[in-house]
Amino acid sequence: MLGLFLSLFAHIFKSGWTGVNERTFIAVKPDGVQRRLVGEIVRRFEKKGFKLVALKLVMASEELLKEHYWHLRNRPFYNRLVRDMSSGPIVAMVWQGLDVIKTGRKMMGETSPSDSMPATIRGDNGVEVRRNAIHGSDSVESAHREISLWFQETELSSWDVCSTNWIYS
Ligand code: ADP
Repeated sequence: MLGLFLSLFAHIFKSGWTGVNERTFIAVKPDGVQRRLVGEIVRRFEKKGFKLVALKLVMASEELLKEHYWHLRNRPFYNRLVRDMSSGPIVAMVWQGLDVIKTGRKMMGETSPSDSMPATIRGDNGVEVRRNAIHGSDSVESAHREISLWFQETELSSWDVCSTNWIYS
């Protein structure tokens, strides 16, 4: 039921989130927060020219995490993943910019740190698949669904970045 509601909600707000206004949901997972990687991850997204639209430190409920990873519910690691993700605070963020979903995934690296190239976030900082430091939406649809799941509309800030003309021509 919640899933259906979120999909409808996401659909309503979808239209404006294209081009330079594209948005993605990025989270520093509990292992990343514990390993003091928040600043490093924020720095990489800022440096790449993306705009921070929302950020909060949260202890996510199992209910929220089960919904977030619903597509993996039949995988053997699902329960453990939900437990790992609820084991400590998460830094939940929304970033905006041209192709931010695809580029964010490239910046993250592969799901397993051992498959991830050096210079990617997981390649440089991840240890193993359960401790891969970061989550990022993998499609336009999942970005809308995840942003709606983690944030209220009022938590998303619209603001002008003074360097925009130096980033986009
Ligand atoms: P990604 O986070 O790269 O989008 P998935 O959505 O497939 O990857 O998986 C979600 C998370 O589940 C991964 O980031 C990882 O922490 C965990 N995970 C994925 N595959 C495994 C696995 N084989 N064993 C344990 N945990 C896994």
